[in-house]
Amino acid sequence: MSDKITQLRQMLDESKYTVALCGSGMLEEGGLEGLKKQDRAYSIEEKYGWGVEEMYTSVFYNTRPERFFDFYKNEILGHIPRETASAGALADMERAGKLQCIIDTNVYEQMERAGCRNVVNLHGSIYKNQCPRCKRMYPMSYIRESKRVPLCEDCNVAIRPLVSLTGEMVDSQNMTRTTQEIGRADVLLLLGTTLASEVFKQYVKYFSGRYLVVIHKEAHYTDTEADLLIMDYPMNVLPLLHYEKETGENAQ
Ligand SMILES: [Zn+2]
Repeated sequence: MSDKITQLRQMLDESKYTVALCGSGMLEEGGLEGLKKQDRAYSIEEKYGWGVEEMYTSVFYNTRPERFFDFYKNEILGHIPRETASAGALADMERAGKLQCIIDTNVYEQMERAGCRNVVNLHGSIYKNQCPRCKRMYPMSYIRESKRVPLCEDCNVAIRPLVSLTGEMVDSQNMTRTTQEIGRADVLLLLGTTLASEVFKQYVKYFSGRYLVVIHKEAHYTDTEADLLIMDYPMNVLPLLHYEKETGENAQ
């Protein structure tokens, strides 16, 4: 393990532009069981009478808003992952000038809460909610505390959480930015995800830098194509890089 940490630290020190992609493993290390994990998916279906793949969709939001928000408030807003050491370590790397961009597919702003600044929330954020008519923004607490469907105070229409639901296009600006950032990277870190990830496959192909690194608890056989593979939770790996020591002098 310590050899791999030394190797990783060397790769990062050499790199002029490092990009991190954060997958669902970042939620797991924060204690969140994914919605699609068998046990949870089953109990959700029992409870609501619909499966996650039916409810977490734009069709369900549009046609059954009351049911949608019942599910959304309980299962999404009611299960926010705790902050782990990964987010703080990434913030230290960023401040030390060793991490230029974070692409997060999760919707919980884990990295921003730890102080990271240059983050692309590829699939949106539960903390951003907007009235589709007047574009007024609402905090997450407004959604959580509303009875039934949260309505805009001015327009009386349902407020939309700005997260990508299944069946919707991912925001095109976010897609373009992700492709550009990966194209610029010397080092690409896949954190809590694998090279087999359906979400990232389409972007990782734009990587033409030096080192591709996978840090994930469970590896996929394609991960052997990475230049470095560390099979562990990122929270057990990233703090060992000790970029916090350099944060003071090299702060940008
Ligand atoms: Zn409105």
